[in-house]
Amino acid sequence: MSIRHVWRLARRPSGTIVAGDFEFGSEPLPELSDGQILLRVRYLSLDPAQRIFIDAREQFMPPVELGAPMHGFVVGVVEKSRRTGITEGTILSGVGEWADYIVSDGTGFTELPTFPGLSLAATFGTFSLVGPTAYFGLLDIASPQPGETLVVSAASGGVGQIVGQIGKLKGCRVIGIAGGPQKCAFVTEQLGFDACIDYKSANVGEMLDHLAPEGVDIYFEQVGGSIRNAVMERMKMFGRVSLCGLISEYNAAEADTQPSFSWVTMMRRLTIRGFIVDDYQRRLPEAVENLAAWMQSGQLTTHQDIRQGLENAVSSLQDLYSGQNFGKLLLEVTP
Ligand code: NDP
Repeated sequence: MSIRHVWRLARRPSGTIVAGDFEFGSEPLPELSDGQILLRVRYLSLDPAQRIFIDAREQFMPPVELGAPMHGFVVGVVEKSRRTGITEGTILSGVGEWADYIVSDGTGFTELPTFPGLSLAATFGTFSLVGPTAYFGLLDIASPQPGETLVVSAASGGVGQIVGQIGKLKGCRVIGIAGGPQKCAFVTEQLGFDACIDYKSANVGEMLDHLAPEGVDIYFEQVGGSIRNAVMERMKMFGRVSLCGLISEYNAAEADTQPSFSWVTMMRRLTIRGFIVDDYQRRLPEAVENLAAWMQSGQLTTHQDIRQGLENAVSSLQDLYSGQNFGKLLLEVTP
């Protein structure tokens, strides 16, 4: 009887993953039923988000059940097929089990395109996840413009290295942030980033002040924590942040109960845009006209809390911070 090897989730980790959180075993490979395929897995993609999959906290897919096979992106060769439309020898990729053989009805798998000159590892490794992440996360979310300063954290990693290079193709000045001299040398010397900050030996904020004294137009965020804070403090007016990842939070044991602002923003794909009403100065007449019409027709009600006497200015102002006002606070200075 044929067997397969598979990793199953043994328990939900608390903090960093340890060996006993998973169980490696072998089991009989079932005979194929009609409509099924047998995939021999060539590569398994290991991605930071897999730490999220094994938590019960809010995320973008149902978490892996206890005892179930762990999953991730895989690519493999169809060794046997009883499914119409999928022939033996086809290369399929998609979300599959951490196993050497997978029996599937093909749901979630698509044929991986081949390109002359690109190996299977390069094609699968780039096109299954990190490439599209970099492509859309930079171009669609952050709209890079020539001459802008783009900062990329986790710069030498799967996503980061592609983000920085697309940034250069779009004419940006690209500053990477990575851990260690070897990774920094790689992104500047091999990938053509303009600079790289080794956050393990340098102060990120001070280095950014030196490298980008005018500030940062685009931050491609992948890590969270103090690196994120240092970059955010140096964003320019009307800068853009593409919130792609938060790896420094993935192992946090308390994250189940206290999702951070960034976590909720990322998981729920929130658009958060800071504004100051002055930005709309030119459209003020439009607002006044509509507000007045709604007020006159009774569709909009406003309530004012009107106090008397200039001498009460400070005590009335204080009331705003303890909720003692009710509605728009005004001071009637003269009758
Ligand atoms: P990487 O290849 O970049 O590997 C992760 C890197 O993160 C490590 O090499 C390390 O680089 C850095 N890192 C690890 N821990 C920390 C920490 N505590 N603080 C700062 N840096 C840390 O992985 P990927 O390119 O696959 O993923 C990068 C990010 O993008 C992750 O946050 C991931 O979850 C996210 N992602 C999001 C997707 C989306 O759809 N939104 C899709 C794919 C990925 P160094 O040594 O430089 O610190």
